[in-house]
Amino acid sequence: MSFEYAPAPESRDIVDIKPSYGLFVDGEFVEAKNTFKTIDPATEETLAEVAEADADDVDRAVAAARRAYDTVWGPMPGAERAKYLFRIARLIQERSRELAVLESIDNGKPIRESRDVDLPLVAAHFFYYAGWADKLPYAGFGPDPRPLGVAGQVIPWNFPLLMLAWKVAPALACGNTVVLKPAETTPLTALAFAEICAQAELPPGVVNILTGAGETGRALVEHPGIDKVAFTGSTEVGRQIARSVAGTDKRLTLELGGKAANIVFDDAPLDQAVEGIVNGIFFNQGHVCCAGSRLLVQESVVDGLLDRLKARMATLRVGDPLDKNTDVGAINSAAQLAKIRELSDSGEAEGATRWSPPCELPERGFWFAPTVFTGVAASHRIAREEIFGPVLSVLTFRTPAEAVEKANNTPYGLSAGIWTDKGSRILWMAERLRAGVVWANTFNKFDPASPFGGYKESGFGREGGRHGLEAYLR
Ligand code: NDP
Repeated sequence: MSFEYAPAPESRDIVDIKPSYGLFVDGEFVEAKNTFKTIDPATEETLAEVAEADADDVDRAVAAARRAYDTVWGPMPGAERAKYLFRIARLIQERSRELAVLESIDNGKPIRESRDVDLPLVAAHFFYYAGWADKLPYAGFGPDPRPLGVAGQVIPWNFPLLMLAWKVAPALACGNTVVLKPAETTPLTALAFAEICAQAELPPGVVNILTGAGETGRALVEHPGIDKVAFTGSTEVGRQIARSVAGTDKRLTLELGGKAANIVFDDAPLDQAVEGIVNGIFFNQGHVCCAGSRLLVQESVVDGLLDRLKARMATLRVGDPLDKNTDVGAINSAAQLAKIRELSDSGEAEGATRWSPPCELPERGFWFAPTVFTGVAASHRIAREEIFGPVLSVLTFRTPAEAVEKANNTPYGLSAGIWTDKGSRILWMAERLRAGVVWANTFNKFDPASPFGGYKESGFGREGGRHGLEAYLR
């Protein structure tokens, strides 16, 4: 049975988007020579003009971060640093509704997700790492672990504020200062975070935010004045960064793409598995590096499972990100939409069968209906390449050994899911899957205390948990 829902729009009034934004350097907003526009991907309406940092701006920001590191933040006792981090965490909570609305407007993700997932996790990360700041000598990295210095951090557009939190919170807790570049299409919540740093009276230069495109990111990671590069984004750019950092004494962590297997055995609770499959690939429009984009189903249950999955997909509401009933929002950019279309077309051309529920997409903005491909072969591009959209590829297997073989048959290794009634089978599988995170009878669960990161082309280094401190300590 399907229900009609009346619109339930969240009000935009809580956010005050300025016509233009500068760069946040040394505790102040400053102008840049060039600017670019950021748009609302659900309407294509221009939201603001944003400063584009060039090499000189990167220089100034790195110099400010170095000064703050040498004179204030590096020498400050951990217990004092913790107070600032707790203050930032509380301000994020206080402003969480505003930040959630802003994130949904700039990114296109449903308000239900930005409000109930992104923002609570952002605050939780700052609270969690605030708690570590005065306990570093007990974290298992020696009696007196030292910070690295200035961290250059580059983040993507899929979880703009959450990726900022993953990077900034552990760096600051360990005594580093940061220069962070948000993605070109989603700069607004990072700029709101800059305001929060000022509101928390964080000493100038400890956090610097440089908006811009790939060139700004390149100038930052290549700058000789930084000690550490932390990057989340595509494997291709990750490779370029690894090459540019090679031979320097910069430390590097890379969190790159994925093509995760979500594996359903014949003894799994199928209705529950369907919820996990939907969450795994349609959460955040599938713009998730650990998305369960390859569904591996045991052959004997594939027909029953697909019937249930299609029935469930038909209930997904696609549309206005600010409507509280929306399940799938807008694709973040025209470029990403073109990539999803191209890969989906290749799926059909290579012989897989495409299905989407009937759904009316808005005329303006960037949209893609939830899509499932059956009859997928391991050699198809849609089984190998990261689509980063609401597109699921279904493959089958007969034995657990075959499931492991197929799941690991990818250059990536970020995450995996297992659905089965047997605890022993979960452990047997988890031991054999080459994936940084393995979820059992659930998917896409995140916690600041739990480390996250990949094998192989999904990158190296861990973010989150005690492990996440290691990337920011000498
Ligand atoms: P990118 O890797 O290009 O972008 C990630 C960040 O790096 C952005 O801030 C980007 O800036 C910046 N950047 C781009 N080029 C350079 C460079 N040479 N040096 C330093 N920084 C740079 O990802 P895209 O946005 O282009 O997405 C492409 C594909 O990558 C997606 O379709 C998806 O498959 C994958 N991806 C994976 C993510 C993950 O979490 N694993 C996240 C995002 C994308 P700018 O925004 O201005 O380009």
